[in-house]
Amino acid sequence: MGNQRSRPCRPSIDVAVLGGGPAGAATAIALCQRGHSAVVIESSGYGNVRVGDTFPPRIRIPLVKLGVWEQFAADRHVPAPGIRSAWGQDDLYDNDFIYSPYGVGWHIDRGRFDSMLARCAEEAGAIVYRQAVLLSCLEDENGNWHIEIAENDRRHHLRAGLVVDATGRSSSFAQKQGIPRIPYDRLIGVIGFATSRTPEKEPSSFTLIEAVESGWWYSTVLPGSRAVAAYMTDSDLYGKAQRLESDYWISQLRRTLHIQPSVSACTLDESNHVVAANTSRLERLTGKNWLAVGDAAMAFDPLSGQGVHKALQSALKAADAIDQRLSGSIEALPDYEAAMTRDFDEYRRTRNSIYGKERRWPEAPFWQRRHPHEVATAFPADP
Ligand SMILES: Cc1cc2nc3c(=O)[nH]c(=O)nc-3n(C[C@H](O)[C@H](O)[C@H](O)COP(=O)(O)OP(=O)(O)OC[C@H]3O[C@@H](n4cnc5c(N)ncnc54)[C@H](O)[C@@H]3O)c2cc1C
Repeated sequence: MGNQRSRPCRPSIDVAVLGGGPAGAATAIALCQRGHSAVVIESSGYGNVRVGDTFPPRIRIPLVKLGVWEQFAADRHVPAPGIRSAWGQDDLYDNDFIYSPYGVGWHIDRGRFDSMLARCAEEAGAIVYRQAVLLSCLEDENGNWHIEIAENDRRHHLRAGLVVDATGRSSSFAQKQGIPRIPYDRLIGVIGFATSRTPEKEPSSFTLIEAVESGWWYSTVLPGSRAVAAYMTDSDLYGKAQRLESDYWISQLRRTLHIQPSVSACTLDESNHVVAANTSRLERLTGKNWLAVGDAAMAFDPLSGQGVHKALQSALKAADAIDQRLSGSIEALPDYEAAMTRDFDEYRRTRNSIYGKERRWPEAPFWQRRHPHEVATAFPADP
């Protein structure tokens, strides 16, 4: 990417959103609601594995603001009554959602949810390119972006006033602008999906969280008699352990007190999926004519269970900032960055305090790294 001479190309749009996950689709919806034109360029067809399947009750707030609550409710996701945790102690304790003014939480089918939001973006007036490859994105001397994409066998040329990076943790657009990503730890998730052998029996729909010596686990039900069990640990610890024991994930699962029984009536899929789950953020979230939203801007520990909620919130804030920027405000994007940074600092304080509550394994590297006197320093990035 770099500077090139301005050349006429159509169609011209206000904003090009790279990435059509929750943050990207929601940004496009909110921009259309504010009277702007937007395209979404999404690399997948939404059929790939997507993680992040439990939503807290307050997800209702951004979904209502985006005008998609009825479409969400029609999709029949599984109601989630709360979370049961063995954290700081062996026994489970409940954190019920019954006290929430927004009702229950939700176990969702992420592919279905993400493609529903993309459809809503189209209904709001955005163009959504699926299975599209960004070939180039070049800035001209007037600050417009000239974008070339391939969608199936077709090429499209667009000219956009602003670009939104919504490409998730890869933050691929911002990183190509030379903005580094700051990692705060090395957390990964090793995810196993499973299918119930007794679909007629209703499994508990509480999400379970269990801390163990080398990290923590969660398990949850999914729509369609499916379930997920995920082992959260640090990438270096997992790599080392797996070199010594190839069935390490299964052997760790068997040692859990609560997670293993919760999936014992399920058949596990053959392979696991390893995904990055660390706390991280871009060093800068905005430039003169671009900004980042959702995980591309800042990614949260899945323990918070807030990733999609925060992605939608950031999309709404970004749409307001872009709206003001397109009306001439030069403060709008820096103000967005400042507000997002305040949220992130608050989140990090909460995260540190929650990890600080688990004190059963003071000698274990995973927990030593997370105890308050050590967490102020960022971990070095993975090689
Ligand atoms: C193990 C784990 C468990 C989690 N559990 C939960 C949970 O229970 N609840 C919750 O709310 N959150 C959870 N999260 C977090 C949640 O998944 C994310 O916060 C959320 O998906 C962020 O949305 P996003 O749109 O910013 O990014 P993404 O969902 O990552 O979407 C990015 C989109 O961009 C597309 N893309 C990427 N690169 C390009 C490119 N170059 N060009 C075009 N398109 C591109 C991708 O295909 C994708 O559709 C979890 C995360 C992890 C790792």
